[in-house]
Amino acid sequence: MANFMRISRLISRLRNDFQLSIITLMGFFGVMGITPYAVYRLATGNYLVGAVDALIVISTITAVFYAWRTGDTVKPGIYLAVIFSAGATLVAINLNVNGLFWVYPVILFNFFMVPPRLALLSTVLVLTTLAGYGQLKPGSVFESDYQMVSFLVTGMMASTLSFVFAYRTNNQRDQLQLLAIHDPLTGARNRRAMNEELKIAVSLKNRHGNNYGALVMDLDHFKRVNDNYGHKAGDQVLVDFVELIKNASRREDRLFRFGGEEFLLLLPNTERVGLQTAAGNLHQHINQHLRGPGGAVTMSVGGAILRSGEHWEEMLQRADQRLYRAKSAGRNCIVLNDNCETAGVTPSA
Ligand code: GH3
Ligand code: MG
Ligand code: MG
Repeated sequence: MANFMRISRLISRLRNDFQLSIITLMGFFGVMGITPYAVYRLATGNYLVGAVDALIVISTITAVFYAWRTGDTVKPGIYLAVIFSAGATLVAINLNVNGLFWVYPVILFNFFMVPPRLALLSTVLVLTTLAGYGQLKPGSVFESDYQMVSFLVTGMMASTLSFVFAYRTNNQRDQLQLLAIHDPLTGARNRRAMNEELKIAVSLKNRHGNNYGALVMDLDHFKRVNDNYGHKAGDQVLVDFVELIKNASRREDRLFRFGGEEFLLLLPNTERVGLQTAAGNLHQHINQHLRGPGGAVTMSVGGAILRSGEHWEEMLQRADQRLYRAKSAGRNCIVLNDNCETAGVTPSA
């Protein structure tokens, strides 16, 4: 039963992690394909080539093992791309035309594993090395110039098509990632991203003592904007609000829209005094600049500092309760702790 669970966990990792599955597959093919050559060469006294083959097999196994162990597929991917590209080039030089066939799967592997530009560069390097070597030693890699040209043209076709495909796939993946964690109206991060980042913040707080502050911000009487001027006008106020908060906060601060007109700003490396300063600045900035069709739109703010050992929901709850108190106290103000309330600031104009 335990074994069955383990195997199903491994299969689900392979299913969910495309890079890991490609590394594993190519690792498997690499080891199965090269080991017999390594054994044969060592057995027949060709120690140098045999040792190179054995080195490729051992480092392939190490790279696959490393990827499984650490979950990092970038470094082993680049490493294997370099090893396989160099290996395919050497094999083609040694086995002549029979070795050239190995170049095609290596081209595909490179485009799966490393960024498209890097994969294109490595393919061009392999093709030019082989063509150059073939020219220096006529008859060594290619049987004729005609064969060399055919190889170069088909190799370039395979890599250009792979490049276009990889480039498109990467773009689509980036766009999907962007859509998955951002709110389409304002561009602020969404609730899903918020949960993830808060989880990370909690573990960094507990493991390394990193400090985090959080500000929950809610627009005052926002319903009136919608009721009096329409939903579109309300949307524009939300877009402007996010723009203003982004301009007035630090680069490392993260803004999330987690409700209709409720936002959370997560501030790394922030303690009580820093949080107070940040909240004051943001509040003032919004007071001075946020305008709807009916005039100034203000916000109320509740803040809290992440305590060690607590769940992020507890911090959020504290900040939310303080926001509620800011609303009860007449809105347009900041509440950061249980005793002290910053009085409301009257909007200028
Ligand atoms: P309070 O000062 O107590 O926060 O009052 P409020 O009117 O801002 O609060 P309430 O929670 O009653 O209303 C929030 C409003 O936000 C209701 C809803 O119509 C509006 N809203 C939520 N999401 C959006 C949105 O995406 N676009 C627009 N235009 N309005 C939204
Ligand atoms: Mg509101
Ligand atoms: Mg609200």
